[in-house]
Amino acid sequence: MGDAPAVAPARVVLATRNPGKLRELSAMFLEAGIALDDLASVGLAAEDPEEDALETFDTFEENARAKARWFSSKLPGALVVADDSGLAVDSLGGAPGVHSKRWSGSGANGAALEAANNAHLLARLGPAAARTAGYVCVVVCTDGGREWSARGECRGRILTAPSGTGGFGYDPLFWSDDLQCSFGDATREAKARVSHRGRAFRALLERLVPRAAPRAG
Ligand code: IMP
Repeated sequence: MGDAPAVAPARVVLATRNPGKLRELSAMFLEAGIALDDLASVGLAAEDPEEDALETFDTFEENARAKARWFSSKLPGALVVADDSGLAVDSLGGAPGVHSKRWSGSGANGAALEAANNAHLLARLGPAAARTAGYVCVVVCTDGGREWSARGECRGRILTAPSGTGGFGYDPLFWSDDLQCSFGDATREAKARVSHRGRAFRALLERLVPRAAPRAG
């Protein structure tokens, strides 16, 4: 999927309405020397009703591609990056997976939606001993013609009670095998080092930023 551009991009638009994702990714792009624009700063502050209908596929790959292409069509000339991500609980057959965002069925948004989802997760698992889980993230970047994509995963287990207030979404209930603490208790930097999103976006950045040509001799 796409060779590295000849020149490293100066800026990328992150196509997300999730402030948690933006917070996590800004530093990583800054380190790579790429400015990350949010949707508001490129004139798309108001959410379009069509956006809700973009994530109707059964795979993270298809949803991320649909989001990247749709936003790219609104932003000709821009390099647009979108991700689709979610939690996959082994004993629930990989649920909530691509349905993570609205799994509880709550029509709320923001903190109230996250609280409803977390309560739903605890109720679905009950006291079950089998609590292993993973987060998955697929990222797709497009310039309107070429596309680059990458996938990242991280493993852990679901706690029986929330711990910490960091991160977003299911993070207070997700014990990270890598960090040996919940993502709710992790610093933003620590989470970014090991998270599904950190891994996927680092892999994407390696593709987007052309390496210096090896010197002859
Ligand atoms: P989407 O990728 O915007 O469709 O949303 C994915 C949903 O998965 C989020 O709304 C969260 O419920 C969940 N999710 C994805 N990544 C994370 C994460 O890093 N921490 C906690 N929850 C996450």
